[in-house]
Amino acid sequence: MIDEKAFSSDLNRVFGENGLGGMLNLKRTEQFYRLTVRMLEENEKYNLTAITDISKIILNHYLDCAAFAKRLPKGASIIDIGCGAGFPSLPVAILRDDIRITAVDSTAKRVNYVKETAELLGLTHLEAIVMRAEEGAIKPEYREKFDIACARAVAEMRVLTELCLGYVKVGGKFMAMKGKNAEFELKDAKRAIAIMGGGDTATEEIKLTGFGETLTHPLITVTKRSKTPSGYPRVYAKISKKPL
Ligand code: SAM
Repeated sequence: MIDEKAFSSDLNRVFGENGLGGMLNLKRTEQFYRLTVRMLEENEKYNLTAITDISKIILNHYLDCAAFAKRLPKGASIIDIGCGAGFPSLPVAILRDDIRITAVDSTAKRVNYVKETAELLGLTHLEAIVMRAEEGAIKPEYREKFDIACARAVAEMRVLTELCLGYVKVGGKFMAMKGKNAEFELKDAKRAIAIMGGGDTATEEIKLTGFGETLTHPLITVTKRSKTPSGYPRVYAKISKKPL
């Protein structure tokens, strides 16, 4: 049982402390509460998240995704590759009703959870699809159709680049929400980025604080310069065994 009043007050305080308070209102606060209740209930049945402490859910999941959501251009279409339990898709959908979101994962159980949760919360601008990333990126209906492809905690940068860049329109962006080794991974992925049609890259160190903790999460942005050549992405066995 989660105390809704305490949850709402913590959520608003921590968002406020990080300059993100303006993104919340009563409706969105309630949606985050209902998301938390549902995620923890479903987590009892099958594995959705290893994080079950409310303060950690607020900091590591919601605040992290809110900082990402704030950086998205108005009206963008985004595809979230390897959405798992809906991160960043669900928080982005709660906080940005101007964004069209396609959430993709290879695991049907997680995708069904995301789909049902979006319906429950009235997030009609989010659709969830069971699909392998490397298979979707060669389908005409998805190839180079998105302003932004994003991924959080899915794979190392060389692999992620091959999985994601094929979805992005020329001039659009691939945004990777990364952990500690981001700079090293990015250096290693220069060749993959060039092959997949990527151009300029930028890394922003996003610093978030709450409940006495500080997180630093690098956000890598790759701008798509030219079309992805046919033949990419390759099949997953090749992507993972012989990264570009
Ligand atoms: N993005 C979520 C988050 O930040 O909590 C989930 C991260 S989870 C560690 C990685 C997810 O990526 C898993 O749900 C897995 O099924 C999915 N995944 C990994 N490789 C994939 C692929 N090639 N195509 C689709 N989904 C994939």
